Amino acid sequence: FNVPALKNEPVKSYAPGSPERSELKKALAAARAKVIDIPQYIGSEEVYSQNKKAVSPPHDHQHILGYFHEGTKEDVAKAIDAALEARKGWATLTWEQRAAIFLKAAELIAGPYRAEMNAATMLGQSKNAYQAEIDSACEIIDFLRLNVNFMRDIYEEQPISSEGVWNRMEYRPLEGFIFAITPFNFTAIAGNLPAAPALMGNVVIWKPAFTQVYAANVIMRIFKEAGLPDGVINMVLADGPIAGDVIFKHPDFSGVHFTGSTKVFQTIWKTIGENIATYKTFPRIVGETGGKDFVLAHKSADAKAVATGLVRGAFEYQGQKCSAASRAYIPSNLWEEVKGFMLADLAEIKMGGVEDFSNFVNAVIDEKSFDKIASYIDGAKASADTEIVAGGNFDKSKGYFVEPTIIQAFKPDYVTLCEEIFGPVLTIYVYDENEFEQIIPVIDATSPYALTGAVFSKDRYAIEYATRHLVNAAGNFYINDKPTGAVVGQQPFGGARASGTNDKAGSVLNLLRWVSPRALKETL
Ligand code: NAD
Repeated sequence: FNVPALKNEPVKSYAPGSPERSELKKALAAARAKVIDIPQYIGSEEVYSQNKKAVSPPHDHQHILGYFHEGTKEDVAKAIDAALEARKGWATLTWEQRAAIFLKAAELIAGPYRAEMNAATMLGQSKNAYQAEIDSACEIIDFLRLNVNFMRDIYEEQPISSEGVWNRMEYRPLEGFIFAITPFNFTAIAGNLPAAPALMGNVVIWKPAFTQVYAANVIMRIFKEAGLPDGVINMVLADGPIAGDVIFKHPDFSGVHFTGSTKVFQTIWKTIGENIATYKTFPRIVGETGGKDFVLAHKSADAKAVATGLVRGAFEYQGQKCSAASRAYIPSNLWEEVKGFMLADLAEIKMGGVEDFSNFVNAVIDEKSFDKIASYIDGAKASADTEIVAGGNFDKSKGYFVEPTIIQAFKPDYVTLCEEIFGPVLTIYVYDENEFEQIIPVIDATSPYALTGAVFSKDRYAIEYATRHLVNAAGNFYINDKPTGAVVGQQPFGGARASGTNDKAGSVLNLLRWVSPRALKETL
């Protein structure tokens, strides 16, 4: 069981004058200069339809990068047939043969396709160069490479044998096919959700978000170039409910690998339940969903560290991370200082398109998202229970731009302290510095989510108290750090409660969901 060592892909800096910066600039210019067609990938075919939909940069919505070819129920049915056909060969390959393909894909992204992957993520999802690099280069490479190690760990786990008996465990792929459904906000998640079950010997129907198809298309081409056999991963571009209507009624449906909103996952779970008697096997249901992630500062905390954690945690990628710091509980003794540092940071931050590398904040993903975020901000402006501390402006004339906004709420159950907004909006609640222990149950109870959270403190007692009393409030808990930026292999990621099934993407726990072990006993 010899596999390449566990190691994270180093992050490139894109500093002025660096070779990676000029390569990325070239890739951005090349992508902008052409209009591409994005097909569905079904078996050996690239499927083009009459129903073409434009793809535009969220920060420049009049520019057309290309068109994706929307799929139908018939296309989804064909993709299932192609997957089941491909399964006959794929499920019988050795683990080394499968691993080699995904390790090659990682190499292609790390080298020749790095700039193209990042440019596609920057333009299609309005991510700045640094945010793209940690997502569509480093994180996807880490998922692909490290999962090979985690697969090895699973296969090495074998039962004991006894005199005259040889026991073994065989980790079979699931019988049937997997449905991978991916969100817009991370290219790495889009790549990992189909790749992880496929690595374990499964075949997959992959439905990316329509707002992420531009980079999804590059991933699919890389998988093919790396040698992935036709039909092992099929990328369909049918709308979610349309694809779901075919897939969730199919007897060979054997699992869903989902990342997206809680509401959609609840719908999916319900549909699977309604069709449960149809399936040959009980399907695996894996979903990483929404968050309302908190930062709790203790009166002993370093105000500068809290402010930096909040500005980065709340506003990087426009707050469109499931882990984004979107509510913060600041003790009264620190508030003026924390506010001062945050306002100073925000005064330096620039907002605009991704082509100008000095822009920290870019556009939010689409008009629907923009309108939703704007309505929360308008609500706060009109409310007697809040004060706008920073930002509050938005404009969708050229791109979907929302200024980083800080709301101070005077009631701990104000709506923006409870609901996921998924935009650059941070709500602060200032609590009495002597009521640290009393604020903890409030944090635990004000939102149904339990994805990420952070405590800032110099006092060991306060750290231990928060860690213990918020034990179920977050699947990823940070001490003196922002609640975003989990690194594959270092902080296995996932949440509980309304935030998902907590199967920790990029870990043994996740890969175990995609196998059906068989115990063999042989009398010698
Ligand atoms: P979304 O739920 O709107 O869409 C996710 C995917 O589900 C898309 O591909 C969409 O087309 C598909 N879909 C929608 N309805 C469907 C249906 N009825 N049947 C099948 N598929 C359907 O989410 P989004 O806006 O793309 O992403 C943002 C959400 O994802 C946020 O809630 C965020 O917190 C969450 N998220 C969670 C994690 C995590 O690890 N917990 C990571 C990233 C994003």
